[in-house]
Amino acid sequence: MGTDRARELGERLRAVRERIASAAAPTGRAAPRLIVVTKYFPASDVRILAGLGVTDVGENRDQEAAAKAAELQDLPLAWHFIGQLQTNKAKSVVRYAHSVHSVDRLPLVTALGRAVGVEQERRSAAGTGPRGALHCFLQFTLDAGADPAGASAGRGGAHPDDAVRLAEACVAAEGLQLAGVMAVAPRGADPAAAFERLLRISAEVRAVDPAAAAVSAGMSGDLEEAVAAGATHLRIGSDVLGPRPAVR
Ligand SMILES: *Cc1c(COP(=O)(O)O)cnc(C)c1O
Repeated sequence: MGTDRARELGERLRAVRERIASAAAPTGRAAPRLIVVTKYFPASDVRILAGLGVTDVGENRDQEAAAKAAELQDLPLAWHFIGQLQTNKAKSVVRYAHSVHSVDRLPLVTALGRAVGVEQERRSAAGTGPRGALHCFLQFTLDAGADPAGASAGRGGAHPDDAVRLAEACVAAEGLQLAGVMAVAPRGADPAAAFERLLRISAEVRAVDPAAAAVSAGMSGDLEEAVAAGATHLRIGSDVLGPRPAVR
């Protein structure tokens, strides 16, 4: 059973890596980093993937992510938090996360900065080494008619008008490193056009911090469009792991 699953994951992973390489070749840019989104799938799958050379995994719920990260502490994995994040979960997330891709409001920037400070004190008291800065991707909504007042339809994401303000806050916060931008293409819209909008927002963020050049875009269904637009990080779930189990 374990070996069947390993074979299945190996084949799916190889197919996705080939798609990424083919999409990247005509761009002349390096292939983006692959983050395999393992939400809903067991830690045993993550272990198999690590054995297949996966270095970056994505999760969207703190409870599930914290449990898997604890179980797989022996593996050199970078955990990317990609789901909507409540400020009261910041303290938990910074215990295991390398990066958060869903930073979409000022109170969350503040909470994450504070949480990293608390985590450094905890580690120092425990005699373990400090963690690195938390890499923050600012998430934007790309719905054309987005309500400037807030996140769209529960999927998260700041209004593009807030890009500079959020970027400046993140740069100013101790313990945080502004990585770049993130978005999910709106359902039913042309992903290529949406990712072009994201690249324009990325330019505004880079004007605040030239090092914040990361672009987290592209899922199983639109990775080719994301690579063509200039994504540096892809978040791929179902095309590597198979269809997700029914919503729990
Ligand atoms: C689940 C999820 C993904 C992966 O989606 P797939 O379509 O399974 O590849 C990527 N990004 C976010 C924010 C997600 O929640």
